[in-house]
Amino acid sequence: MFNKKEWAKEYYRKNREKLNERSKKWQQENKDKANQKSLRWREKNREKHQKIQRDYYQKNKEIINHKALLEYKKNPIKFKARHYAYYHKQRKDYCEYPNCKETKDLHFHHTDYEKNEGITLCIKHHKIQNKLLLN
Ligand SMILES: [Zn+2]
Repeated sequence: MFNKKEWAKEYYRKNREKLNERSKKWQQENKDKANQKSLRWREKNREKHQKIQRDYYQKNKEIINHKALLEYKKNPIKFKARHYAYYHKQRKDYCEYPNCKETKDLHFHHTDYEKNEGITLCIKHHKIQNKLLLN
């Protein structure tokens, strides 16, 4: 008997590398879309996402901690500020860019790492802000 589910599984197994490569390529070419997609998925599957993250951390604890340590050694001020901002204060629930007030996909944009000062921006205005700083 033809079983569609089994067939899809088998197809995936046989073409795993090709499929993974293709989706990776798509993600790189469509970063915004891919981010939106994963964000939407995370919002819908909050518990599942937390479990995946927990499991991932448990499995890769040493690598994750090692990477964090390297990052910390490279730039302790930046590292601390980023983590502090992420876990604690200064986060608003809307974009602070003039006339924007977007409430989705917010990022914390640092204006001063040492003082840990910054503003909350939506994805669009965070990009604009970073471009302005780079030029
Ligand atoms: Zn905005």
